[in-house]
Amino acid sequence: MIINYPTKHTILSSPVTFRKGAIRILQTWYKANKKHTYNQNKQLLHNLAKFYKTSISVFNTPTKNGDCYIPKQKMICLSGDSLITALHEFAHHLYGPSETTACRWSIWLFKKAFPESYNKLTFKRHMLVRKQFYAKKTHSCQYDDTPTTTG
Ligand SMILES: [Zn+2]
Repeated sequence: MIINYPTKHTILSSPVTFRKGAIRILQTWYKANKKHTYNQNKQLLHNLAKFYKTSISVFNTPTKNGDCYIPKQKMICLSGDSLITALHEFAHHLYGPSETTACRWSIWLFKKAFPESYNKLTFKRHMLVRKQFYAKKTHSCQYDDTPTTTG
């Protein structure tokens, strides 16, 4: 399946506004956690789900292309400990299959909550990556409409 990801320009062209309090949830969560692993990201997504009055289940899928959202089961699969990826998949839960919407929502939320960290990142195609990891391979997420998991 070919996915059309947005360009950096499309992602950043206009700011995304968030429900009042959403940014604070990220900031409070960040301060409360020294490590930021899969488990902490899962906790954050559950905090956000409560805030957005919705429910999700989150699973660790440590495989190549393991990041996905499966709408039928409201299931978010995360292959690693990337916060922006976790937010991206949560955006699919809130707003559906649009990659532009998911990229814009996750990147702007990160940018507004952690402006200093954001400045340490760089774009690689539609993704924000740590500058020192620029040469590393990228991944793409799967918006999977079939009832089985990917992996
Ligand atoms: Zn996506």
